[in-house]
Amino acid sequence: MSQVLFVGAGPGDPELITVKGLKALQAADVVVHAGSLVNPELLSHLKPGAEVHDSAPLTLEEVVAIIAGAVAAGRKVVRLHTGDPSLYGAIQEQMEALDALGISYEVIPGVTAAFAAAASLRQELTLPGVSQTLVLTRLEGRTPVPETESLERIATIGGTVCLYLSVGMMEEVAERLLSGGIFTEQTPVAVVSRATWPDERTVEGTLGDIAEKVRGAGIGRQAMIVVGEALSARSRGVPERSKLYDPEFGHGYRKS
Ligand code: SAH
Repeated sequence: MSQVLFVGAGPGDPELITVKGLKALQAADVVVHAGSLVNPELLSHLKPGAEVHDSAPLTLEEVVAIIAGAVAAGRKVVRLHTGDPSLYGAIQEQMEALDALGISYEVIPGVTAAFAAAASLRQELTLPGVSQTLVLTRLEGRTPVPETESLERIATIGGTVCLYLSVGMMEEVAERLLSGGIFTEQTPVAVVSRATWPDERTVEGTLGDIAEKVRGAGIGRQAMIVVGEALSARSRGVPERSKLYDPEFGHGYRKS
């Protein structure tokens, strides 16, 4: 059993943690969590006396020192990250630091915000004949985005695009996505704020009007932006049904 478990807490709803993640929390002696983004209800599963640290005001060095100190004392540590730890979670540098200290760890995945938003919207992100590609990206903030992955270039691919950490720059997102020649002012956009939390809100529009709608709704942070033609299926129907359940097509598990 590893000394440290990086656990994906899921998007907000405390029931959206995995069974494995929940068991890790229940067994933990020390939990370091990603502050306000992790639902505090999850901490109600901890053993009495378990130690809790909010990592929001801490540096990497401080987080690692807490983890290393707990491990040295023989205590079970959970590092709780929002959504899935592998996306915008800064876990690689933590794992590297633990490697240097000879501390073992594992990662337990979680439901990322993009999938929580799709569920809240009741929307498939990959539709036959519309989109078979999903891009998870962001606009640069203090963390730069490599030039080769600029939104303008991503906009030349099309597909369904989910943007993290970007709703505060909605106008720029729309403008840059329009420059690729595939998306148009009519391309549907959904913005889901705090998906799966009790105060979840959804704003829907098009690349032409979404910035204004998002501003009007006062959504400035913690929201997922979903862009792409797949979103019109809810109002216009699916243009093409899937081969998977098509009586005309057989596959490994069903004869045609
Ligand atoms: N590791 C996380 C992402 C952390 S970055 C994950 O896998 O989801 C933080 C960004 O995630 C926010 O700016 C927002 O864009 C998105 N986000 C996190 N939780 C969200 C939620 N419940 N609803 C909508 N967006 C969310």
